[in-house]
Amino acid sequence: MAVALPSFFTAIMIMSRLMAFIGITRNNDMSSKLQALDIAPKLSYDPSAIESASQDFGHIVKAVPQAVLLPSSPWDIASLVNFSYSNSVPFSIAARGNSHSVNGQAMAKNGVVIDMTSMKNGNGTGIRIASDGSYADVGGQQFWIDVLNATLGLGLTPVSWTDYLYLTVGGTLSNAGISGQTFRYGPQISNVYEIDVITGTADFVTCSPNNNSDLFYAALGGLGQFGIITRARIPLEPAPKRVKWVRMLYTDFSDFTRDQELLISKNGRNDNKALNYLEGSLLLDQGSLDNWRSSFFPPQDQPKIISLITKFRIVYCLEIVKHYDGQTKTTVDKVKLIISFICFSYIIIK
Ligand SMILES: Cc1cc2nc3c(=O)[nH]c(=O)nc-3n(C[C@H](O)[C@H](O)[C@H](O)COP(=O)(O)OP(=O)(O)OC[C@H]3O[C@@H](n4cnc5c(N)ncnc54)[C@H](O)[C@@H]3O)c2cc1C
Repeated sequence: MAVALPSFFTAIMIMSRLMAFIGITRNNDMSSKLQALDIAPKLSYDPSAIESASQDFGHIVKAVPQAVLLPSSPWDIASLVNFSYSNSVPFSIAARGNSHSVNGQAMAKNGVVIDMTSMKNGNGTGIRIASDGSYADVGGQQFWIDVLNATLGLGLTPVSWTDYLYLTVGGTLSNAGISGQTFRYGPQISNVYEIDVITGTADFVTCSPNNNSDLFYAALGGLGQFGIITRARIPLEPAPKRVKWVRMLYTDFSDFTRDQELLISKNGRNDNKALNYLEGSLLLDQGSLDNWRSSFFPPQDQPKIISLITKFRIVYCLEIVKHYDGQTKTTVDKVKLIISFICFSYIIIK
């Protein structure tokens, strides 16, 4: 046994050196093959591009890719996927939207990260609105803020959003896409008519609930593991003319959750009495005076809110919205009626 140990460790050392060598050889081999592809000019090896693609918003995971593809069209993506698929040792490919993932979901260790946003100025689908206004065809690389601006210009809007809008359409449709509208309209992945996907075999497939439905339901919420979404057809509705926006503050957690459950229990899509938006949040006493403020809280309310936070350490906030227009002015009174029987500690209405 005493004699066997050193030779055992020597064998491990030789193997690990060999594996590292094979790894390097394979990487060099892959790099030279990548450089021979027609998309070679669109592959970046720039250290700052590699560094940026090795991290995400979370800064928890680090995974260094070999290269970053800056596609100008879906065909560039298909070319890369096809190369990996036909390689004797396929490598990882990850689509990257605005990299707001927090746990490495848009990274490709030793592989290639596709910077989807580079298609914003290329030949990918932009934002095209149907002539009858019923839907928008949107490139996977587009930011939701741009979808909002394009549709609102025509008095239209998707019904289900994320709260933060500097996220890509492909990125949130690969997660779920949630906000204060989800309780009533479902997440964004439940509000899609069809998508174009480049599959792992580099095929272009259009899918919907009635056409290639397996791929449709797998790619939506699939974290990019079932293909790369290059276009999504998003249903549109008339945008609200006006909204009543209310924030209610609670110092008692049970009151807060009871009211929240009560308000989301009215959630029929066509139920005019249901709220259009509802979201809970916390206001914490974290020392910094600005950590909970937003433009919503008027200056005259802030001393009262500060005193509540200082006293209770945590204040619970329900944010609700009701849409209305010239014909439904009474909605404002309905909102007052809805909230008249619930028991917040403080209320702010706009
Ligand atoms: C400040 C902040 C605010 C956030 N707000 C919200 C919010 O309001 N609502 C919400 O639901 N989430 C939110 N998120 C959570 C989540 O990180 C995003 O929903 C998600 O990351 C999408 O954003 P992205 O465009 O940055 O995608 P990325 O993070 O780049 O990618 C997300 C995943 O989708 C894959 N992917 C990206 N593009 C494509 C594509 N075209 N085809 C296939 N797969 C693709 C990636 O490989 C990865 O697995 C937020 C995150 C942060 C950091």
